Amino acid sequence: MVFKSALALLAATAISEGLAKADEAFPPHKVAGNVYYVGSRDISSYLITTPKGHFIINSGFEETVPLIRASVERLGFSMSDIKVLLASHAHSDHVAGHARLHRLTGAKVYVMRGDDGVIRDGGEGQYLYVDSRWSKCPVDRVLKDDDKVVLGGTTLIARRTAGHTRGCTTWVLQVTEGKKKLKVVIVGSPNVNPGYQLVKNQDYSEIASDYEMGFVILRKQKCDIFLGAHGKYYGMLEKYPNLKKGKPNPFIDPDGYQVYIKERHKNFRRILAEQRKEAAEK
Ligand SMILES: [Zn+2]
Repeated sequence: MVFKSALALLAATAISEGLAKADEAFPPHKVAGNVYYVGSRDISSYLITTPKGHFIINSGFEETVPLIRASVERLGFSMSDIKVLLASHAHSDHVAGHARLHRLTGAKVYVMRGDDGVIRDGGEGQYLYVDSRWSKCPVDRVLKDDDKVVLGGTTLIARRTAGHTRGCTTWVLQVTEGKKKLKVVIVGSPNVNPGYQLVKNQDYSEIASDYEMGFVILRKQKCDIFLGAHGKYYGMLEKYPNLKKGKPNPFIDPDGYQVYIKERHKNFRRILAEQRKEAAEK
């Protein structure tokens, strides 16, 4: 038992160290058009600017908020112009900072159905992470799949790609680069976390069908600019140095998107098949 708990402690320490590094400051940068990266080293936040105010997708942890603020201001934008706060999915690394960012900006908070209660109740009601809590944040609007969020001539489309959480959202929008119109896809999360039960899950019975429906949506996207809730989904750390070299924009990566989604779908199916086999053998 002692050995087991020591191992658990070691694993927890490794995870928190990993997260601490993931949440270090990172240079803010323009991705394309009116889309900017204002997140930390691996925990992505995006600023999408319009003449009528701005969107932010993901607040990170509570401690990430000052980094986001510094990034927004370094890019020459003002926090008081942030009008709408959105999320990739209701896990602590993407939404624990919502209440703080909401207080700082007065932005309206829009959340996909399924994740709305978790954000409103400060983490309560999450699948699996029963002890994960953060500050409660009011929700102004509950979204459903394919809802449009419009501000200052920019339209963000909310696609419900659930499974990772009940309201996991992939954000889709169009940007203009020079004369080109490019489709941006910000992947919510196609990942099956350690400990996720895809078969006979009493807390989240529709988890497997939610993932499947999500993959149908993700596989259909004709993505030009590939982004995600974590930089590592789309190779941000590898692509970023190429941004300074100028054209071509390294974030334009339609093939990388398709390869990633296909691989993640295969990974989901493999885990599902293993868990089904295990359940049948019991
Ligand atoms: Zn997550």
